[in-house]
Amino acid sequence: MSAGAAFFDAGTRVAVLTTQPLDRMLTYRAPEGGCWQGAFVEVPLGPRKVMGVVWGPGETGFDAARLRAVARVLDVAPMRREMAEFLTRVGDYTLTPLHQMLRLATRAPGLTDPPSMRKVYRLGAGRPERMTEARARVLEVLKQYGGLAFTLGELAEMAGVTSSVVKGLVKLGAVAEEESPRDLPYPRLDASAPGKPLTDDQTLAAEALCAGLRSGDYGTTLLRGVTGSGKTEVYMEAVAEAMRMGRQALVLLPEIALTSQFLKRVEARFGARPAEWHSGVTMTERRRLWRMAGEGEAPLVVGARSALYLPFRDLGLIVVDEEHDQSYKQEDGVLYSARDMAVLRASINAARVVLATATPSLETWANAEAGKYTRLDLSSRFGPAVLPEMRAIDMRVEDLPANRWISPTLEAHVRARIENGEQALLFLNRRGYAPVTICRACGHQIGCDHCDARMVEHRFLKRLVCHQCGETKPMPEVCPSCEAEGKLAPVGPGVERLAEEVRERFPEARVAVLSSDLFASARALKAQIQLIAGGGADIIIGTQMVAKGHNFPLLTLVGVIDADLGLQGSDLRAAEKTFQLIRQVAGRAGRAEKPGLALLQTFQPEHPVIRAILSGDEEGFWRAEAAERQAAGVPPYGRLAGIVISASTAEAAFDLGNALARADAPLRQVGAQLYGPAPAPIARIRGRHRVRLLVKADKGAPLQTALKAWIAQFTPKGDTRLSVDIDPQSF
Ligand code: ADP
Ligand code: ZN
Repeated sequence: MSAGAAFFDAGTRVAVLTTQPLDRMLTYRAPEGGCWQGAFVEVPLGPRKVMGVVWGPGETGFDAARLRAVARVLDVAPMRREMAEFLTRVGDYTLTPLHQMLRLATRAPGLTDPPSMRKVYRLGAGRPERMTEARARVLEVLKQYGGLAFTLGELAEMAGVTSSVVKGLVKLGAVAEEESPRDLPYPRLDASAPGKPLTDDQTLAAEALCAGLRSGDYGTTLLRGVTGSGKTEVYMEAVAEAMRMGRQALVLLPEIALTSQFLKRVEARFGARPAEWHSGVTMTERRRLWRMAGEGEAPLVVGARSALYLPFRDLGLIVVDEEHDQSYKQEDGVLYSARDMAVLRASINAARVVLATATPSLETWANAEAGKYTRLDLSSRFGPAVLPEMRAIDMRVEDLPANRWISPTLEAHVRARIENGEQALLFLNRRGYAPVTICRACGHQIGCDHCDARMVEHRFLKRLVCHQCGETKPMPEVCPSCEAEGKLAPVGPGVERLAEEVRERFPEARVAVLSSDLFASARALKAQIQLIAGGGADIIIGTQMVAKGHNFPLLTLVGVIDADLGLQGSDLRAAEKTFQLIRQVAGRAGRAEKPGLALLQTFQPEHPVIRAILSGDEEGFWRAEAAERQAAGVPPYGRLAGIVISASTAEAAFDLGNALARADAPLRQVGAQLYGPAPAPIARIRGRHRVRLLVKADKGAPLQTALKAWIAQFTPKGDTRLSVDIDPQSF
């Protein structure tokens, strides 16, 4: 039990985990023999028993005899005080009730159950008479890891064999099968194994990170370096240092697809695979990691954003790789930015944070400018690789027929690369075949029945898909509006349509399309990425998922089909997002010996963002962008919250929105300004009408307190729902 935790033997307050929207804690009588603060317990709630955590002393004024008692104290390590504080502070920041926060920290059912008996496998005494290559690999793995036992799945995967090979060896006595009541320990990572010899730049950066860790104090570092400059090699040194200090390390990646490449690097560096935490990991494995992390047994965890809620015993380092990535902020029951929450978690745990990126978010850049974060720069690519040259293709002067998107200039460059045995990547950030389907007779555009959005044709699926709600329907034969036959036509390109053009123009080339919707499983996606990395494709067509961290050594040309795409619209972050995305995609070119080239097709080569991308003057870009945000008083120089109200009718949503707008005294008290209600950027999703209010306040204003008081004046009626997004990504 952590030092200083309180012990209760009378009334005790229990934060209860339920499916009901409880926003307060309930008081129960402490169980026979008392309980510690943080203990996981089972409590009666109505006719049911639910899980809860002992939070603090109970409310006074209850008749102890009439209180219901805690039913049972669960046999798991109590929640640490740091975790309780973390949950409380994230909840306060995001205006999320505690029970919902608790759900994040215990998201797998049965997490608190003790480990059940399971079969494990270790080296047996016998030797198979007939030794096949597959069998030899299994025995090799078991020998390599000494006395360790593995589950069937683990062993088969590590040896690269099917589980029947292992079972066969069990029959022959070469592998022993046993029942184990305990969680299996993770294979040991050898933190003393030396990494690659670092360059001077890299050494300085790695030493700074390690010194920070040794200080034992909280601190956040922006590790900035172009793609391929060795950021991963550098922060891996910090991971090693944390492990040597006996503290745990967590590496967050923005995308599961990146995990396997990363796991391999860890294995190459430390001799074994670390623990994984993401949606692709089995429930059994998650339970094991949840318990092991709490026992301090998982020295390194690689995972998705929700790994921040694992009950680490002593978390010393959090790396947020590709920290600028939009996917770190997502609805997860709770709207939070994993980057910001990593910083909060670290500050509570006296841990270090490394934010690694080639193109920092403006928030992070500004925090480094202000001296809140330290900043380390890796200025050049490792080895002979140089940053790609960037050029614009002025689409106003290119001769391009209708329904074609590859300019003659770009086509010539692609041809030259593939004749040279190199790869070209064509980037278009649009899934599907065509974003719009229009009737040429009446002008009708096919929309989703449930959302205020057009349906996107996906020819691969042979269906129309709504990218808002996921609803699909077959392509109609006749126009749903005027019933004209054969008049429906696709407008504009998606990656599938671009692939069609590529196949026509380069019939001899091997084409690979990387778009998240084209892969049924993470495994299929992984296979495609490996195929590309191994040279099994000449032309790669991809959406934004190719921008993320993949290493394709043969890739020397990147063509951005529509560099202007992200610049439209009123989103204040449009410039930042476009800048990051295109720089990131361009960075895929020329990662090995051959220099890379990035070509941007644009109708506005004079646009300041396009010019900043081409010139590579990143600091200049951030300074200009920061000045604009400062002038507008928006994040990171001001505070912003988005309130979305949804209901089955627009009227009901507006009713609550208007009522809130009229009762804005709590906001005015802190000098905050209110905008709206107005239809949300997407005014209808899944049949629900959405209305939005924006609240803007000065940096120092107590925004959350004011929001809480403001919203508390109303209780949404019927099916009306209200959600708050602090620091919304788009505004
Ligand atoms: P980043 O994370 O900045 O994109 P990486 O750490 O992935 O960069 O490095 C890019 C490539 O260069 C990787 O293949 C990496 O192994 C290699 N590399 C980087 N630094 C070194 C080094 N000091 N010695 C050997 N290889 C290195
Ligand atoms: Zn829809």
